[in-house]
Amino acid sequence: MTPETTTASSPRKTRVRIAPSPTGDPHVGTAYIGLLNYLFARQRGGEFILRIEDTDRSRFVASSEQMIFDALRWVGLEWAEGPDVGGPCGPYRQSERTEIYREHCNMLLASGHAYRAFETAEELEAERKAQLAAKQPPRYAGRSRYMSEEEVQAALAEGKPFTVRLKVPSEGAMTFRDELRGDITFDYTNVDDQVLLKSDGFPTYHLANVVDDHLMGITDVIRAEEWISSTPKHVLLYKAFGWEMPKFWHMPLLRNVDKSKISKRKNPVSLNYYRDSGYLPQAMLNFLGLMGGGMAQLTEQQIVSGNVNTKESDIFSLEEMTERFDFSRISLGGPVFDLVKLKWLNGEYLRKLSPEDFFQALRRTVFSDEYLRAVAPLVQNRLETLGAFGDMTMFLFSDNVLPPENVWLPKKRTAEETLAFAAELLLTLEASAWEASEIEAAMKKLGEEKQWSVKENFMLLRAILTGSTQSPPLMESLIVFGKARSLDRMRRFLETQKKLQVQASRKQQ
Ligand code: GLU
Repeated sequence: MTPETTTASSPRKTRVRIAPSPTGDPHVGTAYIGLLNYLFARQRGGEFILRIEDTDRSRFVASSEQMIFDALRWVGLEWAEGPDVGGPCGPYRQSERTEIYREHCNMLLASGHAYRAFETAEELEAERKAQLAAKQPPRYAGRSRYMSEEEVQAALAEGKPFTVRLKVPSEGAMTFRDELRGDITFDYTNVDDQVLLKSDGFPTYHLANVVDDHLMGITDVIRAEEWISSTPKHVLLYKAFGWEMPKFWHMPLLRNVDKSKISKRKNPVSLNYYRDSGYLPQAMLNFLGLMGGGMAQLTEQQIVSGNVNTKESDIFSLEEMTERFDFSRISLGGPVFDLVKLKWLNGEYLRKLSPEDFFQALRRTVFSDEYLRAVAPLVQNRLETLGAFGDMTMFLFSDNVLPPENVWLPKKRTAEETLAFAAELLLTLEASAWEASEIEAAMKKLGEEKQWSVKENFMLLRAILTGSTQSPPLMESLIVFGKARSLDRMRRFLETQKKLQVQASRKQQ
């Protein structure tokens, strides 16, 4: 059902959503877009909804959904409707809505806006290769689009598998409005006949996203800029169904200081990392609110009368953001996810805590019962006095561990090959589920491929993680320390070594 029908005299109640895909750790970008949607809804007395887009089964990670809920709640966002809280437009998990998508696909087939395509994956791949070889942009040539009804029926009678594709006009152009950018025009020759329903009966993102946004009464689609190129397909779908279009707001992507798109290759993008490393959720939310320039800076007068200095005007609560965030101020130059600034902000928040709250924050994070309970068994058999606990577990409580070269460099290896192997190890662990048996198997496989002995391989990781050649058991330590923080430690090790090498080669020159 749609929550409310529209008439010209009664505009729809604002409803916005975030629609994360559960494909791994909760991403800072999800909290950024979540915050913007949340503020937008609150400023307009509307609703903020959470929908889980889990139709891509090949990228599905079972633990991801709960991590997304936990991480968004950690920063302080709440949703009015969602898979875990219910609501009038459920289910809010796309894998539970496949029947709805199939019905809608049938509507498009019946109205002639979509067609069945019978090409196999191999045929499509061959077509793509031939186009690339002929220096043409790869594009579905649309043979099935021109099949007669008899041919279609015959293929169906034969039981041939098929996908359903959207009929995109073969020429001309389309224009849609982006609320931040104005009109955006796409040439139809650059828009493929999009697959809507896959041969396994699951919808693609495009179909499910549009059907759900409509059925859930979404008035404003506020999402990241990377979805702009999908929007023409979405607009065509709204038109094909004859539905009222939401407004589209494509937010600038978060960038590194060097302006590249933030990615887990370069810095931690998992909210779990920030939570586990002792960032305060208020600081994280405040930092995300600074992205995009929507927070009107205080006027000079306010600054003078309110006794705030300019730095402090960067500090605000969710309530203040709700009051002051101005969507018309958003600037399209990519907001910089500057970790130095985040750290500064976090420090400001820490200093504002009362001594008791600061103590409680330490007890909740660095020294939580849960964490100590996980760490204790790693060292119980190795300690002679409790007082040595800190010496043996320091690496599990500190942020920076940098092993000296005589610790990390295996005897028979050069620094260059060791760092190359460490970089591979990082990619391998990134792709691994965070369980001892899986990590171990993945490491052994890599070691075999690269001809690194198990001993060398595990010693290297031990050195990077613990800073020492002797430590509590490696696998257990990795698990206790957590995936996000372990990967970050490896990343920092590699970055530091790279910097040191550059410095050393400069000196030589
Ligand atoms: N599932 C998409 C994502 O993971 C949603 C994009 C959208 O908001 O339309 O970001």
